[in-house]
Amino acid sequence: MKLKVPDYISAIKPYVPGKPIEALEREYGISESVKLASNENPIGPSPFAVKRIEAELQKLHRYPDGAGHELVHKIAGKLNIGCENIVIGNGSDDIIALLARALLLPGDAVVLPHPSFLMYDITARAAGVDPVAVPLKDFKIDLDGMLNAITDKTRMIFICNPNNPTGTAVSQSAFNGFIKKVPEDILVIIDEAYIEFATDPDCLRSVEKPDFGRPVVTLRTFSKIYGLAGLRVGYGVMPKDLAELVNRVRQPFNVNSLAQAAASAALDDEGFLNKTIETVHQGLDYLYGEMDRLGLDYHRTQTNFFLIDVKKSADAVFEGLLQKGVIARSMSSYGYPGYIRVNAGLPEENLRFVTALENVLKP
Ligand SMILES: *Cc1c(COP(=O)(O)O)cnc(C)c1O
Repeated sequence: MKLKVPDYISAIKPYVPGKPIEALEREYGISESVKLASNENPIGPSPFAVKRIEAELQKLHRYPDGAGHELVHKIAGKLNIGCENIVIGNGSDDIIALLARALLLPGDAVVLPHPSFLMYDITARAAGVDPVAVPLKDFKIDLDGMLNAITDKTRMIFICNPNNPTGTAVSQSAFNGFIKKVPEDILVIIDEAYIEFATDPDCLRSVEKPDFGRPVVTLRTFSKIYGLAGLRVGYGVMPKDLAELVNRVRQPFNVNSLAQAAASAALDDEGFLNKTIETVHQGLDYLYGEMDRLGLDYHRTQTNFFLIDVKKSADAVFEGLLQKGVIARSMSSYGYPGYIRVNAGLPEENLRFVTALENVLKP
């Protein structure tokens, strides 16, 4: 290719998403496969959301509401914050990209945990920014390590809480100690994609107690507990001045009309949220019990997924599971070559996974 491409763009390793069910079935010629690889909601989308979309379909010739009035008001009401503190995105990935576009210059640095959500690293690189990876300590985000990684180039710090892929949480008190030591010209971004699944009462919930006395952004998504991953809706909660700035670089119609309507409806669907939490927690309990039975070590989680130490090549186990129609995630590209990650599914999906894993691991 003759085009001149910035070195920092050609250096990006492409994001590898969880394998779609259709891709597995196409490639392996099988059916009835099970996907536990992308931490999706196992019970489906919120029925309130589906119903609302049906009504919305007749208005597809209209542009969406660029301000997302209904959705923003609903979120503000639910979180007891101001509408001016909310920026909506085409998934929370979009908010990360918007923050980068608004605030970062090539040559800056961002501090991020490793392993964690790969989009922090990719977004930094795409902006020509140096991603400074701080290794987890005992599978947990090392807040002291992150403080030590700050230099005069640092412009952002990412915290994934609870962390993907380890499922570990940062406590409110640890965070309070940490945030006091971060210079005020560095933006701290807390990604709470899985916060609704956390059971630990000490887990940091940054929107509920947001008084940090300095700018902090909290990211939330409709892709997990709300069951709307396919629609792409998320949002950031941030100080008004920052929201104003981010809105300047946001595409006016970044969240489509179906997504806005569905997300608004899903916020009211308490029954669905409760059923999701119950399904996930029962699924995790079942899976923990089965891992005990198989003599496998695993990490208890504050999310809807967890890590299993398969004590051999995770890539090989991933491949073996695929052949049995079960999609998990190998953690080798995250730096854990002996671990797989699975999310809790429906009871029958969990059983399929356990049976397949037992078979794959058989000597
Ligand atoms: C799934 C996930 C998200 C959600 O991203 P969307 O763009 O909102 O779908 C964000 N952060 C983490 C850590 C995730 O695992």
